[in-house]
Amino acid sequence: MRYADRMSRVGPSAIRDLLRHGADPAIISFGGGYPDPALFPTDDLRAVYDELLAGDPSALQYCPSNGLPSLREHVARRLARDGIACGADDVLIIQGAQQGLDLAGKLVLNPGDTVVTENPTFLGALIAFNPLEPTYAPVRTDDDGMDPADLERVLAESPRARLLYTVPDFQNPTGVTMSLERRRALIDLANRYDLLVVEDTPYRALRYDGEALPTLKSLDTEGRVLHLGSFSKILAPGMRLGWAVASPEILDKLTLLKLAADTQCGTLNMAAVSLYLDRYDIDAHIASVRAVYRDKRDLMLKTLADAFPGTTRFTSPTGGLFTWLTFPEGFDTTAFMRDTALPKARVTYVPGASFFAGEPEHNHARLNFSGLSEEKIVDGLTRLGAHLT
Ligand code: PMP
Repeated sequence: MRYADRMSRVGPSAIRDLLRHGADPAIISFGGGYPDPALFPTDDLRAVYDELLAGDPSALQYCPSNGLPSLREHVARRLARDGIACGADDVLIIQGAQQGLDLAGKLVLNPGDTVVTENPTFLGALIAFNPLEPTYAPVRTDDDGMDPADLERVLAESPRARLLYTVPDFQNPTGVTMSLERRRALIDLANRYDLLVVEDTPYRALRYDGEALPTLKSLDTEGRVLHLGSFSKILAPGMRLGWAVASPEILDKLTLLKLAADTQCGTLNMAAVSLYLDRYDIDAHIASVRAVYRDKRDLMLKTLADAFPGTTRFTSPTGGLFTWLTFPEGFDTTAFMRDTALPKARVTYVPGASFFAGEPEHNHARLNFSGLSEEKIVDGLTRLGAHLT
C-alpha cells in the first residue's frame, strides 16, 4: 500500500508494548496509567444506565456535535467553581482529553510547524501531534514545571512555534506541578509569541497535598488557552469522556473538527455521566479516590527510599498518578528493563526515553502508583531494588 507521508511519523508505542506485559499476572507493572478499578463507581453507573434505558430512548439517539447540553452544563458549573468563567456553550465534550490533543493539532499545525513542550512530556501528546508532521521544541523543566527563561530562549529560536503544550498539574510523566509565577510567565510569553496554549489537566482533581493553583485558562487574557479535562481519572477511562473549553472562535472550529472526526461522543455515555452527576456526589467520590491514591503515593515514596540505592532520585508528586525516577548518568533504563527488570525482577515500568520530544535521556523511569495494590507496590519495588544494588 502507498501510505501518506505522515505515516512515517506513526510508529509502535513503547507504552502499548508494556501494557501487553502488564497482562501477565506474574509480572508487576508500574507502566501504564490505569486508575484503580476497585474505585470505579460501578453500582451507581449501573443504576444510571438502567434508568436511562428504561425511560424514553433519547439516550440512544444522535445529539449535537458539541455534546449533550445537560453534561456541558454540569462541566461548566464545575469549571466555574474552579475559577474558569464559562457557560455550557463554552464547553465541547470530547472522547477524553486525548481527542482534544488531536483536534488542537489539526486546528493550528501545518507540517513543519513547531510544538513547544515540557521536557519530558506526555507521550500520548507526541503520538497525537506526530501525524501532523511538526517539529518539537522541548523546554527545560524542573520541580516547578517549565522554566520561563528557557521557554523564552526556545521561542526566540522557533519562528514556526504555533502550539505550546503543557500539563501544569501533576504532569505525566514527572508528577511535577507548575508554580503560579511560571503560569503567569507562560501566559505572557504565549501572548507575545501568538501561540495556542493547550492546557491538559486530566489529573487536576487528584491533589493529595496543598491548595489548587489557578488554571492557565483562568489566567488567559487573550483567549488563547485551550483547556482540556477528563472524566477518565475521576470516574472511569472506559467512558471516554472529557471536555474542551476555549474562546467561542476556537471552540466553533474545534466543534467542526470533532464533527469530521466522529460526529459526537456517544449519547448514552454522555447521558449516563450527566445523570450520575445529577444523582450522586462526584466530589465525595473524588475525595475517596484521592484518599486511596494519597496512601499509595506515600507507600511508593517510602518504599523507594527504603529499597532503592541512595543514588536514585525521584519526584515527590503532590497529586496525579506518577513518580519520575532519575538514575545516575550512564544508567540505561531501557536496557535494564530488557535485561534485568523484566526477565529477572519480573517488574515493568516505562523507560523515560520515550517521553522526550528531542534528544532522549536514558536514565529515567516513570512509575505509576494508582493501578497497583499496596502489596504489589511493596513487592514490585523491593524486587526491582534488589537488582539495583
Ligand atoms: N493527557 C495526559 C497528560 C494523560 O496522562 C492522559 C492519559 N493518561 C491523557 C491526556 C488522555 O486521557 P483521556 O483521553 O483518557 O482523558
